[in-house]
Amino acid sequence: MLQSTQHARGESPVAVIGAGIAGAWQALTFAKAGHAVTLHERSDSAMTAATSHWAGGMLAPWCEAEVSEPVVSRLGVRALDLWRGELPDTPFNGSLVVAHARDRADYERFASMTSGHTRLDAQKLAEIEPSLEGRFRDALFYPGEGHVEPRLVLPQLHARIKAAGGTIHYNSERQPDDLDGTVIDCRGLFARDRQPQLRGVKGEIIIVETDEVQLSRPIRLMHPRWPLYVIPRDGNRFMLGATSIESEDRGVSVRSALELLGAAYAVHPAFAEARILEFGAGLRPAFPDNLPRIAIDQNRIAVNGLYRHGFLLAPALAELTLAYVQRGVIDNEVMQCA
Ligand SMILES: Cc1cc2nc3c(=O)[nH]c(=O)nc-3n(C[C@H](O)[C@H](O)[C@H](O)COP(=O)(O)OP(=O)(O)OC[C@H]3O[C@@H](n4cnc5c(N)ncnc54)[C@H](O)[C@@H]3O)c2cc1C
Repeated sequence: MLQSTQHARGESPVAVIGAGIAGAWQALTFAKAGHAVTLHERSDSAMTAATSHWAGGMLAPWCEAEVSEPVVSRLGVRALDLWRGELPDTPFNGSLVVAHARDRADYERFASMTSGHTRLDAQKLAEIEPSLEGRFRDALFYPGEGHVEPRLVLPQLHARIKAAGGTIHYNSERQPDDLDGTVIDCRGLFARDRQPQLRGVKGEIIIVETDEVQLSRPIRLMHPRWPLYVIPRDGNRFMLGATSIESEDRGVSVRSALELLGAAYAVHPAFAEARILEFGAGLRPAFPDNLPRIAIDQNRIAVNGLYRHGFLLAPALAELTLAYVQRGVIDNEVMQCA
């Protein structure tokens, strides 16, 4: 039924390679726009080899402005609407940034480099996040931000692709030249055969479980080396993340584990009794400027370099790709034409 609608609308078939967050949003956006979409993923539906499997899933364009260019904020703010439209249950409870006294200067610098926040005193902080009562003297609150749980949201997006008439082939390794018609290459770090400038930036995480702490939103803790955070997950679980290391080794070092666990303990001492469920690391696909890119070479389109913003940016990048394919619209900030 949907197939015939697609033919009636006359949209060209599209093949997408890679079912991580970039490819999932591309496939979904094109399928909903009436294209016959086939998505190829070389791993199985558990997607454990994808960087997306390891992500925090924060949708945080205002906080991320501290470390990224304005284009990330522009596309990120747009993407929030696209997430809301597609998955209305996405939690948009905002994010909090807190600091201990010794990191006060970093906290003030973070506040001055970002917008979209209000300052909460200790009492207001305790009102919105009771577990943090008495823990910090104040906090920065970014009310417009959201977060998703990557390991839940990827299967949800895959199901929506199928519901929109798309086809997904798992255990299907493909190269862009194997396929006819319009091909959208979302292979992440595995696309270095065509995009050799890509590098992996390691992010280590720990997942813990405790019913002693309840949080409704990501808590970022100022830290001299990298922004550490605690993100609530389903089932009394919390993700502690994430380092940012110029390395493609996938192990978790003792030092990183100590820092991640120390950050959780600093947010709330009850984390000391939490059960450790998982250590892991993902490699963020990044270009030298750490900016996302839609590289167009006739009907071969590569969407990559999502770095630390894949969940934030993927919907907006898919919208841009669709506008290019359907109407030839070029976004000069992210598109590169061969
Ligand atoms: C620890 C950590 C925390 C993060 N936190 C956040 C966050 O809070 N918010 C945020 O927005 N971003 C976050 N990120 C960044 C985000 O995870 C990445 O930007 C994003 O996952 C990149 O997605 P991708 O689809 O480009 O790549 P991937 O997720 O790696 O997907 C690529 C897919 O392509 C498949 N593939 C490869 N080659 C082939 C082939 N030849 N044929 C078929 N399939 C193939 C792979 O199997 C893989 O499934 C985080 C990253 C890490 C590591």
